[in-house]
Amino acid sequence: MGGGVRGAASGVTAIERDLMQLLGREAIQASVEPYGRDSTEMQGFRGIPDAVVTPSNTEEIQRLVEWCKRNGVPIVPRGGGSGFAGGAVPVEGGIVCSMERFNRVVGFEPLLWRATVQAGVTTQHVHQLARENGLLYPPDPGASEQSHIGGNIACNAGGPHSFKYGVTGSWVTGIQFVTGNGDVIQSGGTLRKDVSGFDIKSLIVGSEGTLGIVTAASLRFIPAPEKTVQLVVAYDRVSAAQEGLLAIYGNGLVPSLIEFLDGSCLALAGPSLPLSLPRDTEFVLICEADGSASTADEMADDLKAVLQADAIALEVISDPQQAAALWRWRSGVSFAVISSHGGKMSEDVVVPVESLTEMIVELAEIGKRFDLPTCSWGHAGDGNLHATFLLDAKSTTDVERATIATRALFEAARRLGGSPSGEHGLGWLKREEFEHQFGEAERELHYRLKRTFDPYEIMNPGKKFRMPAPAEPEVVVA
Ligand SMILES: Cc1cc2nc3c(=O)[nH]c(=O)nc-3n(C[C@H](O)[C@H](O)[C@H](O)COP(=O)(O)OP(=O)(O)OC[C@H]3O[C@@H](n4cnc5c(N)ncnc54)[C@H](O)[C@@H]3O)c2cc1C
Repeated sequence: MGGGVRGAASGVTAIERDLMQLLGREAIQASVEPYGRDSTEMQGFRGIPDAVVTPSNTEEIQRLVEWCKRNGVPIVPRGGGSGFAGGAVPVEGGIVCSMERFNRVVGFEPLLWRATVQAGVTTQHVHQLARENGLLYPPDPGASEQSHIGGNIACNAGGPHSFKYGVTGSWVTGIQFVTGNGDVIQSGGTLRKDVSGFDIKSLIVGSEGTLGIVTAASLRFIPAPEKTVQLVVAYDRVSAAQEGLLAIYGNGLVPSLIEFLDGSCLALAGPSLPLSLPRDTEFVLICEADGSASTADEMADDLKAVLQADAIALEVISDPQQAAALWRWRSGVSFAVISSHGGKMSEDVVVPVESLTEMIVELAEIGKRFDLPTCSWGHAGDGNLHATFLLDAKSTTDVERATIATRALFEAARRLGGSPSGEHGLGWLKREEFEHQFGEAERELHYRLKRTFDPYEIMNPGKKFRMPAPAEPEVVVA
């Protein structure tokens, strides 16, 4: 990208100078380096933006898009930078459009269970707003203090409670966004139902910034459950845990979450678990029952009855403080895993729920083949694993081996009827998987949709998938 050289006297690049004239000095970040990475940084993944803009209103974004169209410069939309696929990383330069100043709650009507927020409001802020008003906003991806609602929408983020409540898209009734052509589109709104047009907002959900920039969203809430009860269930065999999981389905029980940790993960994170497990524990399921006090208790009893047959231990936690300690521990699992070897490469593959343990066994086998320790944990109820290769992040050999091993992992997931990403998206790091995941007709449909929303191909190019080169014009010989 041209215009990236900083003037010795001004410390400003030509692109930044142009953008200052366009958007004002306060919309241009002087320090661009922090915007060159996201949560994939541990894999040494970084980019260098040509400029970082922090617009404060939709009209500024439109002006930015027009400028980028004219100058053929890509835009990389950025939320909180917590993504695990490199989607917000300016790998090939371009202008990072950080949504941090879009941080206002535009409207909140607690008695109608809904809010409209700007895209840069953090997930945690929305949770707090809901909680303080007796409501629940269920999507709960793990970096909620950092991630933005716009980033959650762009990735269709999930989290533990997706099992009962669904992923981000299920809670979005309207989205305002700016297309790659510079048009402002309001798709949906606060209406709970609306089928008068195509469901365009659902195309934006999960589009990873490749179709447009989300500027605001209308979200729906539900009344918060009165009570939650947690069950921690230990197994000495993976197969017994799989039977337990399927028994939950088979008995028609709907806990609000079903999480798991395998034996290798427990060996790393287990020592700080705030309860004791039998020594021969090889697998743990954590379930949560929620609802009115009586519904939650009844559901917990039913879960206990179904799960205890094959378990070697089962603990029921009703005390909120004990439950909070359990979830604090659960959110630290990823860090405990990292600290064991200095790094990890983790992929959020998803398989049909009945194949969960088969996928876990495949992961271990792939790890052996590539001489890398493995572990997994995640959202058992959705068949969604954080399938992890442990590595020394400073060792290029380890990183290279893990990169090849992840390809084998994706192949195994596909063989089991799954997909390379259940909730993080393909971003840059997994974009090659797009080719393997979809047939020609479906890929072509993606390309046509991309061109409709983003005719100049300036919106996060190269993320999720690579666009095919334009066809050579036919030479007509007279
Ligand atoms: C510790 C930890 C735990 C996590 N746990 C979970 C989990 O349980 N479930 C889960 O789903 N994810 C999880 N994540 C991943 C991450 O938090 C989510 O993918 C989140 O949705 C990313 O949001 P963000 O605002 O940080 O987006 P970013 O990382 O900034 O961007 C992610 C993608 O969204 C695009 N984007 C961002 N904002 C916009 C916008 N306004 N308009 C258009 N495109 C935009 C970017 O271009 C990029 O492609 C976890 C991450 C961490 C670090």
